[in-house]
Parts: sequence; structure tokens; C-alpha cells
Amino acid sequence: MSNDQQSLGSVKRFGTRYGKTVKQRLATIEEKARQTYKCPYCRYEKVNRQATGIWHCEKCDRTFTGKAYTVHEDITEDEEEPDEAET
Ligand SMILES: [Zn+2]
Repeated sequence: MSNDQQSLGSVKRFGTRYGKTVKQRLATIEEKARQTYKCPYCRYEKVNRQATGIWHCEKCDRTFTGKAYTVHEDITEDEEEPDEAET
């Protein structure tokens, strides 16, 4: 039995409302969103989320778009999507 009360920190603000599963999902997402990420330009881990999909690097002072809650996930791999072969 996994008794993981993992990372409910940011979600404690909801008190007893909305249910455990939903809150745990939100907690995971919010934790990801608050992490600092590696900058795709200067490779320093200085990127913070400003708003949904908007990220700012404190090192090179660039603001750029990314995913809503993460930046670098697939940021380089996504660029080359293989075309589906049509027969
Ligand atoms: Zn940077």
C-alpha cells in the first residue's frame, strides 16, 4: 500500500475541498511549474515560469514560450517530428 501524502503542499490551500485525487494531480503540476528549468539558450538552470506558457531566464534575461507547466520537456526533441509515411 502506497501511503504517499506526496507534495500536497501547494494544494493545502483548498482545505478539505475537491477530493484527494484531483488535488494530488494539481500538486504534481504546480510543483513542476514552480521548478527552475534549464534555459534552452544559455543552458543555465535559471528559468522560471511567469505565466501560463511564458518562461523567463534570469541568466540571459530572455522571455520565451514553452509548455504551460514545463519548459524543457521535449523542447529539442519535438522540433523534428517525423512525417507519417503515406503509401
Ligand atoms: Zn538563459
